[in-house]
Amino acid sequence: MVGAGMVGNRFADELGRLAPHIDVDLLGEEAYEPYNRVMLTELIAGRIDLAGLTLPTPDSGRVRVRAGVRATEIDRDRRVVVTADGDFAYDILVLATGAHARVVPVPGLRDGLPRGAYVVRRLDDARDIAAATLNAHRAVVIGAGPLGLETACALRHRGVGVTLVAASTLLSRDLDVEVAGVVADQAVALGIDVVTEAEIASVGVREGRVDAVHLANGRSIPAEILVLACGSAPATTLAAEAGLETNVGIVVGADLRTAVDPSICAIGDCAETLAGVSGLVAPGWAQARALAGSIAHDRRVDLPPVAGSAMRLKAVGMSVVTIGVRASTAGPIDRVVVLADRSARRHIEIVTRGDTLVGVTCVGAPDLAAHLSTQLDRPGMLPADPIHLLMGTSGMPVPESNSPTTMPMSTTVCRCNGVTKGDLVHAWDEGATTVESLATSTLATTGCGGCTKLVGGIIDWLRVSDPPSQHEGSDRETTVPQW
Ligand SMILES: Cc1cc2nc3c(=O)[nH]c(=O)nc-3n(C[C@H](O)[C@H](O)[C@H](O)COP(=O)(O)OP(=O)(O)OC[C@H]3O[C@@H](n4cnc5c(N)ncnc54)[C@H](O)[C@@H]3O)c2cc1C
Repeated sequence: MVGAGMVGNRFADELGRLAPHIDVDLLGEEAYEPYNRVMLTELIAGRIDLAGLTLPTPDSGRVRVRAGVRATEIDRDRRVVVTADGDFAYDILVLATGAHARVVPVPGLRDGLPRGAYVVRRLDDARDIAAATLNAHRAVVIGAGPLGLETACALRHRGVGVTLVAASTLLSRDLDVEVAGVVADQAVALGIDVVTEAEIASVGVREGRVDAVHLANGRSIPAEILVLACGSAPATTLAAEAGLETNVGIVVGADLRTAVDPSICAIGDCAETLAGVSGLVAPGWAQARALAGSIAHDRRVDLPPVAGSAMRLKAVGMSVVTIGVRASTAGPIDRVVVLADRSARRHIEIVTRGDTLVGVTCVGAPDLAAHLSTQLDRPGMLPADPIHLLMGTSGMPVPESNSPTTMPMSTTVCRCNGVTKGDLVHAWDEGATTVESLATSTLATTGCGGCTKLVGGIIDWLRVSDPPSQHEGSDRETTVPQW
């Protein structure tokens, strides 16, 4: 296994559980145990520490995590992976090398990053940015996707003056233009200077250190810290040098294996499947689970269908959630209900299709977002008038179906890992009675962490309805982890 990131670690964990007789060497270039990359901007903000990035680690004694070991070559003739620490033999090689952060190729950044300029991909990047905030007053963040916005909010939370520079509108891939305007209002209210529709001409560098960002319209923005959040590119070099087919990513078939050498597979951000490259953790975890099952049971890969798009911002002082269909992507038979309240920097939008909620976009309404996301894709759950779905925030009672008690067992609680209420109840019955132990046994809460409050609510309900004293060996403490 090359790459001990979020997907590589999950694959090793799954394979260790399903096939404990298989030896796995998990080679990771970074000097750390696998960690939750998705939460790095929370580390920059100072809202979590290193312990808050902990991922469940492979439980099998046959999985050896080799932190700080970089694969430099795949020798396919000898079936070994070459590293500075020696060769690692394989019967099956799984590549989960992830992605690199993109750097905009403008003057000032073409010969490598000057001091004060950072990308946000690795734990070291996040720690360096957090350290730089101690002596800096002005930062510029280039890129206004989720990563750019989260970083801008994190830096602002640290007390740094921030300018967020976007090529178009904020979160343009995820939000319609009008909704993006509400998010921009929220950013401005946090004290962030927002510049949209901007083109970067160059980055000013003085004595090897960033000092400004120059825009094509002539404006110059002073910067002591520059963060580039301009997307990522799959890490394909190792595969390409081994003669494997690469395009945007490492090209694999429906079985997640490369055509040139079926003993080599690729999953996660580095892989280009029939659906393209993903860049998100949930599809990578689905691939990890499917490939581990296929290898353990010697059967074909059984990939679940790709879930609809979902984005939940983890930004200090801002709440943005969008899942599924939006107003602009709704079809002729869809019904769109919008509560637009720009002066309160709030926008709530739902899309229904027949008797099913198929889209939710909530800006500035976190509780309603949490409620509505549990109602998605559940046929027959709509009230006669869908406007009643939006009433939880206006002093009216939250609809009964939001309660852990009445919520159907099939409700998806953790969207990153596809964990339902039924899965949590089953794990509770097996003795997992804390957020941590439920995370270990079901993996709920181990992705973006957005479901942690809901999992806590389900625990509270189970403690009353099915007290843990009934379960031998139960871990009674109920603590909510920091992520
Ligand atoms: C700050 C941030 C926030 C994010 N937020 C979200 C989010 O909210 N939701 C979401 O779905 N996704 C999010 N993502 C994307 C998500 O983190 C990735 O989709 C996920 O990490 C992919 O996992 P992976 O294992 O494929 O790659 P990675 O997690 O990048 O891991 C790849 C690992 O392989 C190692 N490696 C590479 N080459 C070698 C080599 N030759 N030898 C040894 N090791 C090697 C790398 O060092 C790295 O540790 C975020 C990403 C970042 C950076």
